[in-house]
Amino acid sequence: MDSELRELYQQVILDHNKSPRNFKKLENANFEAEGYNPLCGDRIDIFLVVEDDIIKDISFQGSGCAISKASASLMTHMLKGKSRKEAEELFVKFHDLITGKLGDNPSLDELGKLAVFAGVKEFPARVKCASLAWHTMHSALNKEEKVISTE
Ligand code: ZN
Repeated sequence: MDSELRELYQQVILDHNKSPRNFKKLENANFEAEGYNPLCGDRIDIFLVVEDDIIKDISFQGSGCAISKASASLMTHMLKGKSRKEAEELFVKFHDLITGKLGDNPSLDELGKLAVFAGVKEFPARVKCASLAWHTMHSALNKEEKVISTE
C-alpha cells in the first residue's frame, strides 16, 4: 500500500471516530446485542431494525478505541438497506481482509469504504477491535427476535 493511500485510510478512520455515524440507541430495535473486547476495553451495543429480512435501520452505542468506534460507524453505514445474508457475507469478507486472508493485493471493490481497515492485518492485536462491531451484529441477528410490545 502506498503512503498516500495509507494516509487517506487513516483520515477516514479518524473522521468516523470523531463523528461516528448512527451513534444512538434505536428504541424500536427488534435485534440487539452487546459486545465487549476485554483485550482493549472496547464496549459496543448494536441495535437493528429488521423487516422482511432487510436491515431497515442499524445503530450503535458504546465506548472504545478509535479503531473499534470507526469500524462500528462504517459498518452501520454499510449495512443499512442490506439483507441479512448480504450482511453476513460482508462480515466474512471483512474478517478475511483484516486477518490477511485476502493477501497483499486484495480486490477491495466489494468492500467499499471498509477497505480502510486493510492495514489492520499488520496489527494482530487490533483485529479484535476492528471486528468487535461485526461480531456483535452477527450475534444480534442470530439471537431470538425480541418481542416488541406496543402496550
Ligand atoms: Zn480497541
